[in-house]
Amino acid sequence: MDLLIENARVWDDRRPVDIAVSDGRIAAIGPGLGGESARRIDAAGRAVLPGFVEPHLHIDKALLYRRQPTRDGTLEEAIRLTAKLKAEQDREDVLERSRAVLDMAVRAGTVAVRVHPDVDPLQGLVGVETALLLRDEYRDLIDIQVVAFPQEGIVKAPGTLELMAEAMRMGASVVGGCPYNESGWDDTERHIAHVFDLADRFDAPVDMHADFADDCRDPRFSAARYIAEQAIKRGQRSRVSLGHVTSLASFSPEEAAPTIDLLREADIHIVTLPATDLYLGGRRDARNQRRGLTPVHLLRDSGVNVTFSSNNVRNAFTPFGKADPLLIGNLLAHAAQFGTPHSQAEVLRMATHDAARSIGIGDSYGLAVGRSADLVVFDCQRVDEVLLDLPVRRWVVKRGRVTVETRHECVINRSGAR
Ligand SMILES: [Zn+2]
Repeated sequence: MDLLIENARVWDDRRPVDIAVSDGRIAAIGPGLGGESARRIDAAGRAVLPGFVEPHLHIDKALLYRRQPTRDGTLEEAIRLTAKLKAEQDREDVLERSRAVLDMAVRAGTVAVRVHPDVDPLQGLVGVETALLLRDEYRDLIDIQVVAFPQEGIVKAPGTLELMAEAMRMGASVVGGCPYNESGWDDTERHIAHVFDLADRFDAPVDMHADFADDCRDPRFSAARYIAEQAIKRGQRSRVSLGHVTSLASFSPEEAAPTIDLLREADIHIVTLPATDLYLGGRRDARNQRRGLTPVHLLRDSGVNVTFSSNNVRNAFTPFGKADPLLIGNLLAHAAQFGTPHSQAEVLRMATHDAARSIGIGDSYGLAVGRSADLVVFDCQRVDEVLLDLPVRRWVVKRGRVTVETRHECVINRSGAR
């Protein structure tokens, strides 16, 4: 045995168990396992979850906020300001900022991430090339999937499609899309066709930014239903993710039903990005400002897989964040009203099992025998307190190796204080 974690609180209603790890996989889970092990950790009844999964993170344009102060706080402004900086992206600078964000993710207990570097004639392939380099560099810490993401549009930005194909040849494994950033619905339709054609050519899954607006009046921001139809038609069931999808919230449940039925039929994964959506959404509402989130409860209650992610970290799209899924989960719990014990547990599920399924790693994931030994030991005693305490990640384990150890001691001096 390579690692034995003793007294781990995996279930709140049962006694703590031991987790035995061999060859990077969970070999056994149960009380009092004992036996010889190269390393032992006494979790002392601390809560344990499978490692977090971030299905949607931009590392190439993270930590740019000081260089691009915003005024309006709108999506259009964020795209415009970031485009200026992208035109002069320096490879070493991209690497340095990307590493800083990946280190944040590793410290937070994230074991797999899907990164969405921009691919366009402005910054070329520097985002993809550096992400692929970091995929190797970080392979013992975190699994990285790389998306070829056309933030500036495909039809609108000639040359982008060729760059996306080159990105896939270089080793990107997911075809991205941004169908709302085109000049009209016809071009949005062409954009979506290009994305599915490329996915077909490289036998790759699809992950698009879609329907990112306060309402559905403009068809470019109401494409989810069409995308779901295309996913079914092109044999991409379960292999398509859509980020944002905020405009769906402007429909009544009855109006949304046909779209949601198709999303479920196509088994499309919806990734809500609350830190960005709350910040950029509803900017033109003079009163009763909209929250800008996709209808998470309605979608989940209808059987659609919904997960969440950090998206951007400290730039014009999102001035906050530290690539910590627990922070985003806590924010989502407030904003989307996940308050009951049952729904708080759902939030943790979204950051773990549901996120893993969305990026296609569900079969090797989770705290079960035979699954990859990717887990987090939190500095709290109950699983149902993880979302509330935002506890220190005491140990993080990736493929059976302890990758993070955190020691914090906070003492309250209860008497004699002046
Ligand atoms: Zn994004």
